[in-house]
Amino acid sequence: MTKAIDPTAYQLKSVASGSVFNDTGWLLDAPGETQAGLIRAIYEKKQLHLKESDYGLFVFADWLPVTRFLMGSSAPVTYKSEGLATKLGLTRLYITFSGFWPERNALMRSCSFKETEAYSVAARIDGRQPGKVLVVASAGNTARAFAAVCSENRIPLLLCVPEDNLNALWFDRPLNECVKLVSTQKGSDYFDAIHLSTIICGFEDFYPEGGAKNIARRDGMGTTLLSAATSIGRIPDYYFQAIGSGTGAIAAWEANQRLIDDGRYGSHTMKLMVSQNAPFQPIYEAWKANSPEMLFYDDDLARQHVETIDAKVLSNRKPPYSLVGGLYDALINTDGEVLVVTNKEAKAAAKLFQEAEGIDIHPAAAVATASLIQAIKKQRIDTTKIVMLNITGGGEERFRQENILYYLKPDLTFSPDANVDFIRTEIQKLRW
Ligand SMILES: *Cc1c(COP(=O)(O)O)cnc(C)c1O
Repeated sequence: MTKAIDPTAYQLKSVASGSVFNDTGWLLDAPGETQAGLIRAIYEKKQLHLKESDYGLFVFADWLPVTRFLMGSSAPVTYKSEGLATKLGLTRLYITFSGFWPERNALMRSCSFKETEAYSVAARIDGRQPGKVLVVASAGNTARAFAAVCSENRIPLLLCVPEDNLNALWFDRPLNECVKLVSTQKGSDYFDAIHLSTIICGFEDFYPEGGAKNIARRDGMGTTLLSAATSIGRIPDYYFQAIGSGTGAIAAWEANQRLIDDGRYGSHTMKLMVSQNAPFQPIYEAWKANSPEMLFYDDDLARQHVETIDAKVLSNRKPPYSLVGGLYDALINTDGEVLVVTNKEAKAAAKLFQEAEGIDIHPAAAVATASLIQAIKKQRIDTTKIVMLNITGGGEERFRQENILYYLKPDLTFSPDANVDFIRTEIQKLRW
């Protein structure tokens, strides 16, 4: 179901060259440019005017590249912490919560901020797409969010997920047939799923979602900061988030720039305080070495590290770090820091959060919370300033207990070395 609206007016800008151009439909890159860099949406409205709250995420439609409103969405919720703030000795701690917490009006049924990007991306679709089936590769939360949103809104979707991650695909209702799933055989990983999705996107009738390169994805995630700034009345001084790809942090930095141009929320750039789950810490290693490129990461070692960490959603080995307008630039421009925390620190932080605030949080959000605790201990932040803690996922335990769950089953399973012709023949059997 959709509510008709005037599409948000925007143009696109290449961060690398500064050139400005129209969105001719699902552009993910600047046409004709060779340097690896992001494109950004430049919204016609420089000031953000919130729509009525029953628009869910689309209260922020002024700064989302969307052509329509989809039903069933929920915006991130920001509130001033008392419990955790007191325990940590912070006077102005604001928690931005994405997930399921009805008492606070957070109603994301896939329980993470991936739902913000799924709604935003789905609402960017306008009939000018190169093919008809959207393809998304993911190891978990992203697939769940896109599946739920596309099912609810009857958007043809093909998910590519490693077989070992299928347990992430739980839902509180059966999904519509417009959502199909292909998996890569047991023992394969996220990169095999990405590889498969790339092959499928080479076939007629399929088009890639685009990941960090999709303006809708980043601006969807950027609503966490829009929620914070519009609730607080000011851009925060520090932004804490656990990262795998860092897309959420890039998005927050971009939203920060729009808020400065808006003029009502301050003219300062908040410090990005991003965190990884040790020992999987490739972004930390690159940043610590002052390197604008990611460093070499041995395959076997990386796999071993992924095995070890609790916050598996943070295990991205090819983040959008070095491209123009990417994570490295975001950290440089915000005088940012990268922190690392152990499983043990994250577990303790999750427990503290639950006691102090009254809701379970995702292991990745626990990493962010632990990084805040660490930053205070090591006196890395001024505790009198405004701190935004981005709780990127929460309420999942509770939601899963309270609902009967359905699991999405693969329509097809491929070996990671299946050849293109075989994949094409099999995929053609799927009917949307
Ligand atoms: C994906 C995810 C992250 C990491 O987000 P990025 O900004 O893309 O690195 C953090 N927390 C949760 C719950 C996630 O699902």
